[in-house]
Amino acid sequence: MTTLIESDEHKALRAAVSGFAKDHHASTNGDLWQQAAKLGYIGVNLPEEYGGGGGGIAELSLVLEELGTAGSPLLMMIVSPAICGTVIARFGTDAQKREWLPALADGSRLMAFGITEPDAGSNSHRITTTARRDEASGDWLLTGRKVFVSGVDIADATLIVGRTEDSRTGRLKPCLFIVPRDAPGFTRRPIDMELQAVEKQFELVLDDVRLPAGALVGDEDAGLLQLFAGLNPERIMTAAFAIGMGRYALGKAIAYARERTVWKTPIGAHQAIAHPLAQAHIDLELARLMMQKAAHLYDAGDDAGAGEAANMAKYAAGEACVKAVDQAVHTLGGNGLTREFGLASLITASRVARIAPVSREMILNYVSHQTLGLPKSY
Ligand SMILES: Cc1cc2nc3c(=O)[nH]c(=O)nc-3n(C[C@H](O)[C@H](O)[C@H](O)COP(=O)(O)OP(=O)(O)OC[C@H]3O[C@@H](n4cnc5c(N)ncnc54)[C@H](O)[C@@H]3O)c2cc1C
Repeated sequence: MTTLIESDEHKALRAAVSGFAKDHHASTNGDLWQQAAKLGYIGVNLPEEYGGGGGGIAELSLVLEELGTAGSPLLMMIVSPAICGTVIARFGTDAQKREWLPALADGSRLMAFGITEPDAGSNSHRITTTARRDEASGDWLLTGRKVFVSGVDIADATLIVGRTEDSRTGRLKPCLFIVPRDAPGFTRRPIDMELQAVEKQFELVLDDVRLPAGALVGDEDAGLLQLFAGLNPERIMTAAFAIGMGRYALGKAIAYARERTVWKTPIGAHQAIAHPLAQAHIDLELARLMMQKAAHLYDAGDDAGAGEAANMAKYAAGEACVKAVDQAVHTLGGNGLTREFGLASLITASRVARIAPVSREMILNYVSHQTLGLPKSY
């Protein structure tokens, strides 16, 4: 039987990923990526003709949510198959598809994604990384700086958002370039983050990085369209990341609240402990429903409808995650702050979904303006 919300195939995929993640909890992150890829989980959204699973963001987000729920989230899933894989599958040249999609799907190669700059975070219209064409060779020369780019060291290349000059109007327009990790002039410095995660964030410098003509993704004139094609999956996947983390924390708290007895009954019998956990569960379920809606609209080809839902899902999931982690830590009392119980580090980690890839305030700005029709405030 198929339900409106999730098909039987989706439920089976959820159960399979959940079982896989529990079995592999102790293994290293690199191993987990490879093994998940071997089972078809990492490339589940990529086209079948290039070695992917032929599914969509609905399936990919479900995989990430279940990995996170088991305590083994793979942050790079937001980037490598979801943003980069989607953009290349939808807009890449045949050569780019052949070179990258099978490798992204089987996990043998990863791609990072760099848009944020020191002076262009929330306001990505201000990016200044610029590509100019070397007329003699047809190569591109890319110059600029990026910050907070995740996983550049473990990714074989980074999809860099830059600008090229439009020869007709002289205006700068966004364009996407595949920059190999070891390209001369492409340097990185890890940022000292307070996050306990295997995926590091980097500051990048691009100093006249010479790229062949084939490094430009797709069509020079469709940069913005291509960029947006990757940003909706990014938001939906960030929602999945946050919901997974929230469910993981909540699971730990519920188990603790059932066992821990301070007076005569387990602490979970006190409504002061039980109700906030129930509220956290409801908030996570609601966020997941919006994530499923966004994924459904995106996979059905409704980019505009998916945009609003993806923003709302990311917002709801970020808030639900922060609240679930906060309540989980509190439920464990002093143990909530020990390393042994592993929840304290999530206080920092849970904030990520509130900030990235688009902050809570920018989503509220978007909904105020686009959905409610209120005057634009920025
Ligand atoms: C763990 C982590 C991983 C990341 N990975 C990547 C990656 O792989 N690739 C990449 O390109 N980037 C990445 N980022 C960057 C992320 O996308 C940015 O941090 C995010 O876009 C916010 O930009 P900012 O940090 O410059 O904040 P700012 O834009 O400086 O904003 C600061 C604060 O001001 C608020 N604000 C700004 N403008 C307004 C306004 N008009 N109205 C109301 N409030 C406003 C914001 O909401 C925010 O709270 C990552 C960030 C983190 C934390």
